[in-house]
Parts: sequence; structure tokens; C-alpha cells
Amino acid sequence: MKLRFYNAKILTMQNKEIIEGELHTDNGKISHIGGEKSGEFDREIDLQGNLILPGFKNAHTHTAMTFLRSFADDLPLNDWLYEQVFPHEARLTEEAVYVFTQLGNMEYLTSGITSSFDMYMKLPVYVKACTDMGFRTVLCGSINDFGGTVEGIEEEYNTYNSGNPLISYQLGFHAEYTTKREILEGMAALSQKYKAPMYTHNSETKAEVAGCKERYGITPTQLFDKLGMLEYGGGGFHCVWFDERDMEIFRDRNLWMVTNPASNLKLASGVAPICEMRRKGMKNFAIGTDGAASNNCLDMFKEMFLVAGLQKVCEEDAAACPAFDVLEMATKGGALAMGLIDCDVLAEGKCADFAVIDLKQPNMQPLHNIAKNLVYAGSKINVKMTVIDGKILYEDGKFTTVDADEVYERANKLTKEICGD
Ligand SMILES: [Zn+2]
Repeated sequence: MKLRFYNAKILTMQNKEIIEGELHTDNGKISHIGGEKSGEFDREIDLQGNLILPGFKNAHTHTAMTFLRSFADDLPLNDWLYEQVFPHEARLTEEAVYVFTQLGNMEYLTSGITSSFDMYMKLPVYVKACTDMGFRTVLCGSINDFGGTVEGIEEEYNTYNSGNPLISYQLGFHAEYTTKREILEGMAALSQKYKAPMYTHNSETKAEVAGCKERYGITPTQLFDKLGMLEYGGGGFHCVWFDERDMEIFRDRNLWMVTNPASNLKLASGVAPICEMRRKGMKNFAIGTDGAASNNCLDMFKEMFLVAGLQKVCEEDAAACPAFDVLEMATKGGALAMGLIDCDVLAEGKCADFAVIDLKQPNMQPLHNIAKNLVYAGSKINVKMTVIDGKILYEDGKFTTVDADEVYERANKLTKEICGD
């Protein structure tokens, strides 16, 4: 499949420059960015001055949790997690995970999101839902005391890193507070064996850090470091309650801090100190939505606004966390955080994963600064098209690889069976 997008503005995210010209794709890769160039194409699209930018990367999520959207909100975190989330998740069937994943992926596409870093269960059926739809995903291991074995994680690591261009896998476990030491040590050995990065929920709440200190005398980050889990990189999801030493470890090991502001606000977990982390020398940041049970909305525009706004208000400095930095976290940062090194920026030879933004809408005018328009004024109504692996999966409100009405009907039926209302 060869596509030509012309009369485009292109923000490659290699720098702040906007190129006026065209972008070509060939077999899932970008084959040309720049001025007019001839060639044979399957389709030529006049973008009429609209914008192409790298797709947003949802660097932490639990996609199939769409079934718990607006089901058990406004509860304290522990009641929400242990009394509402876990018991209903235990009733999920394979069919349900397939359909709820389709629903979540559809929502990503409407927000210009071209890949997800997903931690969940029933991986074969999750992978099938993504592959059938053409959605790129990186699986994150989710072992904890309630499910999974270290041997199982090793098998998943090898199975899902074996050539499907849409699917890859990173080592991970749920969190310190749900995973006993023996498993953590097994995971550390796995990281050493494969020289592989490690990911987990880290310091999401104050109570989580206090619990870890009671158990081990140190914070989760310091524990993971001590166990030898962080020698080959990786990162943490949330990272709200970090002390100075945690920040130094993240800086020295080049780890990725994945922030989830909407989820942290809604579950009253706190605000991640991103500006302070930057002052301590941390450089690697990405953004995730977390699952629909806690967010409830899988939308990168909302997250980007929150990242910027929360840093400004907490720092009492309107200059803190500027728009372009946030856009970088949401695109390039996310890709590098999850190991998608060819999906970070738009350039020849990189993956053809991008979004087309409709600039001809009131909230995108005038065009003083497109990055600021996107972060401060943008919304998913501006997403005209989402392209993954050189295929248009979403265009002008329509999904090309999935029947939306059928997904809504099945999702509602299955939700009723599981949640009983
Ligand atoms: Zn999470």
C-alpha cells in the first residue's frame, strides 16, 4: 500500500519546525517527507493545509477496562480497586476482553493515538483484537501474587517479540504492593538474563510508598534498584510520590517516568512532581491515560492539558512545563518509553504511524503556534485521520477495520453479563 498526502503541514517532532509539503508511505514506512515528488500511489489525499504529526503514544493503559467506565466512580481508591475492580475483572471471558479491547482501541483512534503500552490479562485474545484491527501495541508483563509465573512471563516475552510488526512485549509486573519478594527476584533475574528493561506501577499513592517502607525499609524505586531490576532501563507508571533518591535513580538509569494525570486526580493520588524531577536531571517523560475504570476517558488531548496545567499550578509558575515539551512527551517520549524506536518522529524510513489534525475548526484558529493550539485548545474533534503501519484506520469519524455499531452492541451485552445491571 502506497499513500500520498499532499498540501500538508508536517510537524515531524524532530524539532519545532513545520514543513509545508507532502508525506508518502510505502508498505508501512514513511518513504518521503518534503516537496512535491512523483510516484505511483494507491491513494492520493489532498490535506488542504491540514497538519500531520506523529501519532500520540498511550504509554500506560489497561485497554480492556473499558467495561468499567463510569461503573464504580467516586469511591476511595482501596474500595474501588478491591471491591469493584478486581471482583468484576475475575468474571471477564475471552470474548469480553476481545470486544472491550476493540472498544478501547477505537477510542484511541478517535484521539490520534497510534499505539498503547498495555498491561492486562488474556494476552492471546488481546493480541488478536489489536492485530485484527491493525492497532500497534506493546504488551507489558503484569505478574503479581494473584496471577502469573516468572516462567510464564519469560514465555510471553519470547512469544510476543517474534516478528509481528504490530506486537511487542516488555518485561513488567503489576506493582510492589501486589507482588511478593520471591517474584520480584525472579523478574530481576529475567531482566538480567535478557538484558531487558523493566516496567511497573511505581509510587502511585502515598500509602503504597509507606507500605513498601514498612516491608523493606526503602521506597519501591530503591527496592527495585537494589534487587537489580533496573540495570537495563525501563520505567515506572504514575511516579507521584518520589523522593530525591528515587529521582536520582531514574536519572542515572535513564528510566522513563510515565505520568497519568487524569487518573491521579480522579483517584485523589496526587500530582507527579515533573518539574522537580527535571530539576534533578531526569529527562525521560511520557504520558498515559491509565484504564477507563479510573480515568474514564482515553484521550491524549485531555492528558496533555492536565500535564501542563498541573505543573504550572503546583509550581506557581505559568512558564512551567511548556506546550512543546508536553507534545514531545505525548509523541516521541511515549514511543521511546515503550521501545518503539521507529515510531518516535516522522522521517524517511520510520513507521508510518501518524495523525492528521483538522486545522479548519474554530479551536485551531488562528495559527500563531500549532503546538500550543494542540496542547491548550486541541480536542479529539480535531482528529481527522489516524494512520498506523501505513493504513488509515480512522477517517472523518469512520473506522475502516471494525464495525462500530456491532462493537457497541456486543460491549453493552457483555458488560451487562459481567456487571449485572
Ligand atoms: Zn495502571
